[in-house]
Amino acid sequence: MMPTGRFAPSPTGRMHLGNARTALLAWLHSRALGARHLLRIEDLDTTRVRPGAEEDILRDLEWLGLTWDGFSRQSDDLAPYAQALERLETYRCNCSRRQVLEAASAPHGREAVYPGTCRHRPPPPEQPAAVRWRTPPGVVCFHDALEGEHCQDLTLEVGDFPLCRADGVFAYHLAVVVDDARFGVTEVLRGCDLLQSTPRQIALQRALGYPTPRYLHVPLMTDYQGQRLAKRGGAPAVAELRTSGYPAPRLLSELAGSLGWAVPPEVRADELIPLWRANLDNRSKL
Ligand code: GLU
Repeated sequence: MMPTGRFAPSPTGRMHLGNARTALLAWLHSRALGARHLLRIEDLDTTRVRPGAEEDILRDLEWLGLTWDGFSRQSDDLAPYAQALERLETYRCNCSRRQVLEAASAPHGREAVYPGTCRHRPPPPEQPAAVRWRTPPGVVCFHDALEGEHCQDLTLEVGDFPLCRADGVFAYHLAVVVDDARFGVTEVLRGCDLLQSTPRQIALQRALGYPTPRYLHVPLMTDYQGQRLAKRGGAPAVAELRTSGYPAPRLLSELAGSLGWAVPPEVRADELIPLWRANLDNRSKL
């Protein structure tokens, strides 16, 4: 199979520097491996999509020289997600978030584990309901190229999770798995906030008979307080720099600096490929 990597932004706001750094690393990873690099716009959650955000993301990536060999937008065709959902063992559920939290065992700081209330008591067919996956029992382990071995017991730590919301929006976990498979993604480099999501996605891949890509979760950029940068938290937008005449080569140099690479004050993205390749060869941590 042709090695294939991807960057999969959600157009919920403008990209901040942390998003740009992850975009850069995903691109460097594909290029260092001689892989195809795909761009996928994850816009299924229409309640969170911001007008103009996709356009800004595309412009930002072009400005930084992070080219792509294939493009997809999840909202363009929902059929693949619906077809995958049909093949999974699911049940309808109309527990509110509050009910789930109340019924769930949620150790401090952990996600609520859904106790499966609707498994045996599904709501009447006329009521709108989410669709939950009957998560198979067992521990799912994977090897992350940076983080090492990572395991999760889905029954104990997650429970049956939703694949489609009551308003008909397909869940991120389902969409990401379907798309990585149908576009032949073999390399997933993304932010380490998604490390905990990976076992869920691997379990779905197995249930659907899809191959599991290689994973590499990279650290996120933080602010002075150590909080990860967030679109909502007012982190500087790449689009603002771009439109104010800031030079892209300078931003690339700064992003490289944040990765521990001492480079000239202005660089092109492709000049960083050997540095990332060396990082991979030395298996060094970021
Ligand atoms: N769309 C997700 C995000 O912007 C990333 C999904 C992924 O890389 O798997 O956080």
